[in-house]
Amino acid sequence: MGLNYAIDCRACGAHTEYRTTINASEVVYTRLVEHVDTECAIRCPVCRARLNKSEAEFLDQVSITIGE
Ligand SMILES: [Zn+2]
Repeated sequence: MGLNYAIDCRACGAHTEYRTTINASEVVYTRLVEHVDTECAIRCPVCRARLNKSEAEFLDQVSITIGE
């Protein structure tokens, strides 16, 4: 199982999907969603807009799911 990320950038509207191969569990998933790092900038890969100005803003633009 890996964690999949989908980014829907508010600034440019780009939809980007990432598939990771790290081992993931419900615990890892919950931690990621509950503790978003807002100090280190996470940016849209297309327009470089900052996605994590705040935790709420980040979660609004990114969806994280556990995949195969
Ligand atoms: Zn963008």
